[in-house]
Amino acid sequence: MTNGMNVSRRDLFKFGGLAAITAAGAGALAGCAPQQKMANTGAAAAEDGSTYVGPSFLQKPAEITEFDEEHTYDVVVVGAGESGLSAMHAALEAGATVGALQSLSIVQTAGNMGASIDLTKTNEAGIKAVLSFINYKSDYRANLGQVETWARNSQEALAWWAEAAAKGGSESKPYDYTVNCNGHEVFFHANTYFHDEGHQKGALVIGDAVQAEGAEIFFETPCVQLLVEDGRVAGAIGETKDGAHVLLRANKGVIMAAGDYVGDSEMLYYYTPDAKGLHQAVDFRNGTGLKAAMWAGAQMCPASHTKMVHGEGPKVRFEMPYLFLDRHGKRFMDEGCCRMGYLNEFTNKYLAEVDFAESTAAKFFSIVPTNWQDHYDAWKDFSDISIHNAYRNVDPEAWIKGDTLEELAEGMIAYADEEGWAHDYTVEAIVESINRYNELVTAGNGDEDFGKRDEYMVPIEAPCYAVPRGANNIDALVDGLWCDGNFQCLDVDMKPIEGLFAVGNASGPFFGNSNYPMDIEGLSVGRAITTGFATGRYVAGL
Ligand SMILES: Cc1cc2nc3c(=O)[nH]c(=O)nc-3n(C[C@H](O)[C@H](O)[C@H](O)COP(=O)(O)OP(=O)(O)OC[C@H]3O[C@@H](n4cnc5c(N)ncnc54)[C@H](O)[C@@H]3O)c2cc1C
Repeated sequence: MTNGMNVSRRDLFKFGGLAAITAAGAGALAGCAPQQKMANTGAAAAEDGSTYVGPSFLQKPAEITEFDEEHTYDVVVVGAGESGLSAMHAALEAGATVGALQSLSIVQTAGNMGASIDLTKTNEAGIKAVLSFINYKSDYRANLGQVETWARNSQEALAWWAEAAAKGGSESKPYDYTVNCNGHEVFFHANTYFHDEGHQKGALVIGDAVQAEGAEIFFETPCVQLLVEDGRVAGAIGETKDGAHVLLRANKGVIMAAGDYVGDSEMLYYYTPDAKGLHQAVDFRNGTGLKAAMWAGAQMCPASHTKMVHGEGPKVRFEMPYLFLDRHGKRFMDEGCCRMGYLNEFTNKYLAEVDFAESTAAKFFSIVPTNWQDHYDAWKDFSDISIHNAYRNVDPEAWIKGDTLEELAEGMIAYADEEGWAHDYTVEAIVESINRYNELVTAGNGDEDFGKRDEYMVPIEAPCYAVPRGANNIDALVDGLWCDGNFQCLDVDMKPIEGLFAVGNASGPFFGNSNYPMDIEGLSVGRAITTGFATGRYVAGL
C-alpha cells in the first residue's frame, strides 16, 4: 500500500511505526495516527530518491560505515544516568566486559527519590497487587513483565545504589511508606536525596566506581547510530565533538539507556502533543539515542507518552483536595483528583490562552484552612489520592497567609507578580470564589459546581493559607522504545530485535498511559535504577 507520496506504508512503519505517518499524509491515513501540527518538518530527499515528508527525526540518515576507532565488549551501554550506570555495574558484576557512550563530559542524571518494594514486609499477594495497581493507574497499558522486574529486583538494586553512593559521601535519607493497593498494604522503601543535590551526586560517585570496576566510558561521544549486521544490532556508534566516529561492538547486546526526549521539541510535540507549552526541564535527554534505535528498526511506544509534569518545589507540593483557584482567581476542577501528575490535564487550556508562550499560565493556588492537619487525619483512611504526600516536606512558613480573605488575595497577587506568573487576579475575583465555595459548604447540598466528594467540602475561613501550586514543568517522559518483558526492543512486527535492549526512560511501556501516576513516590527513579540493573545482568548472561 502506498500513500501517493512515494513513501510506502511499510516504509513509514520502518521509520518508526504508526506514529511516523507524515503531516501531509495524515489526512490520507486519518484515524491511524495523531494529526497534530509538527514543528520543523519539511520535505527532503529520502535515500532512495523519493520525497520524504515528515518529522525530521524519523528520516534515517546515511549509514556510517567508516570508523576512526573500534572497540569490542560483551555489553555496550548508551547513556550514563541512573539506568545506564546500574546496567554497567550489574553487567560488570556478572563478569561481562562493558563499554559505554555518554553524550556529556560527565555522568548526568536527575531525580530526588527512588522507590523499591520492601520484600521483607510485603507478601506475594501484595506484590501482585502492586502490579495490578500500577496497571490500573496506567489505564491498563503497562507491560506487567516490566513492572514485575522492578517489583522483584528493586530492593536489591536500590540497596546497591544507596550503598555505592554513600561510599562517596552521598547519603540517602531513607523514607518508608505504605500504599494500599487493592486492599493490600504494600511496603515501600525509598532512597531520598532532596537534602543533597538529588541523585546526581551519587551518580558521579557511581560513575567513578564503575570505571574503577572496568567499564570504559567514552565521554562527550553521543551515540548517533547503531550498527546493524545480519539483522542484529551489533554495536553502537559514537561521534566525538571533532566528528570522529567510534564504534563500540557488542558481543551480547547494546543497552539503550539514553533517557527520554524531553529536550527535543519536535519529538515532544509529536509523541506527546499535550505537553505543548510546558517548560522543558532538561536538555541532556534529547532523544538522540531513541532516534538511533528507531533507525535500526525499533519503534516507540504508542503515543501519547507518559508525562511527568511537576511544578514548584517539594515544600509547596501540597496535595490535599481544598479549593483551587486558577490564573483568573476562579475555581476550575473537582480537587478530589488533585494528584500533581494529573494536573496538566486540567491546566493545559490555560497554556492555550497565552498561545503556549508562558508556562506559568498553568500555575494556580490551593486555598487551605489552618486546621489542615485535622483534615489530614480525618481523610487519610478513605482517600484514594495518597494524601500522605501532603504531610511530608510541606512547610507552611513558605505559604502565603492572610488574616482576612482580602489580605490573602493581596498576598497571592504580590506573590504571583514577583514570580512572574501569567495571571489576571483581582482581589474581588479571589474573594468571590472563596465565598462561593463556602456557600456550597454551608448549604450542605454537596458540591453543585464540580461534584467533589462531600467529606472534602470543608469551610475555608480566614485566617487561612494560599499555597502556590501548578504543574508547568515537563520533567520527563517515562515512556520510550517499545520493549518486551525482558526490555528487548520490539520491531514494527512486535518481534524482539536481536542485540538491542532499552532501560529507564528510554524503554516502555512500564506505564504506557498519558500521565505518570505519582501514587508510588519515586517510582520513576526506582524503575530506572532497577531496570538498568536487571537488564545489565540479563544481557551479560546471554
Ligand atoms: C527536576 C527533576 C526532578 C525529578 N525528580 C524525580 C523524583 O524525585 N523521583 C522520580 O522517580 N523521578 C524524578 N524525576 C525523573 C527522573 O529523573 C527520570 O525518570 C530518571 O532520571 C530517568 O533515568 P534514565 O537513566 O532513564 O535517564 P537519565 O538519568 O537522564 O540518563 C540518560 C543519560 O543518557 C545520556 N544521553 C542522552 N542521549 C545520549 C546519546 N545519544 N548517547 C549517549 N548518551 C546519551 C544523557 O546525558 C544522560 O546522562 C525527575 C526529573 C527531573 C528533571
